[in-house]
Amino acid sequence: MIRKLISRVFGRKSPGSPGAPAIIGVNKHGIRREQISSGSRRTVETLQQQGYKAYVVGGAVRDLLAGFTPKDYDVATNATPEQVRHCFRRSRIIGRRFQIVHVLMGSETIEVTTFRGHHGEQGQHSGNKAHTDEQGRVLRDNVFGSEKDDAARRDFTVNALYFDPTSETIVDYHHGVADLKQKTLRMIGDPKTRYREDPVRMLRAVRLAAKLGLSIDPEASRPIREMSVLIENVPPSRLFDEMLKLLTSGYAVKCVQQLRAEGLHNGLLPLLDVILDQPLGERFVMLALENTDRRVREGKATSPGFLFATLLWHEVLAKWEAILNSGERGTARIPALFLAMDAVLDVQAEKLAITRRIAGDIKDIWALQPRFEQRSGKRPYGVLEQPRFRAGYDFLLLRAESGEVDSELGQWWTDFMNRDGEARAAMLLPPKADEAKKRRRRKRKPAAASAE
Ligand code: ATP
Ligand code: MG
Repeated sequence: MIRKLISRVFGRKSPGSPGAPAIIGVNKHGIRREQISSGSRRTVETLQQQGYKAYVVGGAVRDLLAGFTPKDYDVATNATPEQVRHCFRRSRIIGRRFQIVHVLMGSETIEVTTFRGHHGEQGQHSGNKAHTDEQGRVLRDNVFGSEKDDAARRDFTVNALYFDPTSETIVDYHHGVADLKQKTLRMIGDPKTRYREDPVRMLRAVRLAAKLGLSIDPEASRPIREMSVLIENVPPSRLFDEMLKLLTSGYAVKCVQQLRAEGLHNGLLPLLDVILDQPLGERFVMLALENTDRRVREGKATSPGFLFATLLWHEVLAKWEAILNSGERGTARIPALFLAMDAVLDVQAEKLAITRRIAGDIKDIWALQPRFEQRSGKRPYGVLEQPRFRAGYDFLLLRAESGEVDSELGQWWTDFMNRDGEARAAMLLPPKADEAKKRRRRKRKPAAASAE
């Protein structure tokens, strides 16, 4: 009933020529030109003044309609990248395969894309599979197209909305406004074909549904379980980007629950297995994700290194213990930890290209953990001086909150950090008996002191 009404108002099955978009006025959609960023508005206006078509498109329009503040603004136009560049003094063409233009407006960077065509179906009809891999994944997406083509190659109907700030209308080829009102995430075209073209769309479906509170249309949700294996063919760097988006969307807990509900985890990505299937670390991981969600929603910065360090920590703990128990490598505690860290990161790297910088951050945070246990002598002072001390300390607090370590240890470091001079020195614990012995031995035989 409501669905029918909404469809009538927002133009699902709208009359008119086949393929003609619905043009939705501001009285129906409610987005005013003042709501978009001034940079995106000026970009669109400049292009239009030069005689081109231009719209704000994609996530920004969707987010505004759904009541969220857009993260960034994309503009779509019929001007070629060269033509766009000539319209703006502060702009540069980026990308070799498919060029887009970054237009700098004050502190904003607006991404301007020329309308693109859709490769996948073209390939299938003509029997020309040159642009896809064996599983049908689109490898090249680099032909210009019409405005209508550009709408059709987008993934979900709610992502194919074109807002013209000048007329304050939304051009809607696929009934995205109606779908958003009905809280449905619907794929444009045949979902199976679209997942085959780009398996990352399965992860995008989960992320967008969780963030926007939409339910995935059954047509789009049904094939996910059987097609999830296709994610294995996606380049690791792309998966890393998508996982990072998912985990820092502000709705990571919801995303993770939905991934499990859609069957999008088993054996898929080691990282997801780790998040979803570890009874031991589940509380720790959930705390970390809740923590991240809260920070993102409060507009605070999150560090990918910290996040991945938490997600993988219990893997490291298990591996560390296994190495110590195996007795192979002399089983010194700290070298065993470093071996465990590398082993865990190597497993991830096969599927997920964690960048070198982030891997460095992750290791720094992990490596600090055993050092927090040493609370005598000069060592705690050295720990305070570590560049990653704050992240390591936050990590320690999370471990304490999850019950992995005594909360007294976290409290000790909080106090130690907040005090100075004699009050700080008074907190130091007496050296442990075995440590004292070791030190005496080292003094006698300095050459042998290399175990840690
Ligand atoms: P967010 O920015 O919140 O992550 P978004 O939808 O804006 O969400 P972007 O990656 O910025 O995501 O993409 C911008 C637009 O490009 C999307 O709204 C969609 O129209 C299109 N798009 C992005 N990824 C794909 C894809 N894998 N397949 C088809 N269209 C896509
Ligand atoms: Mg976007």
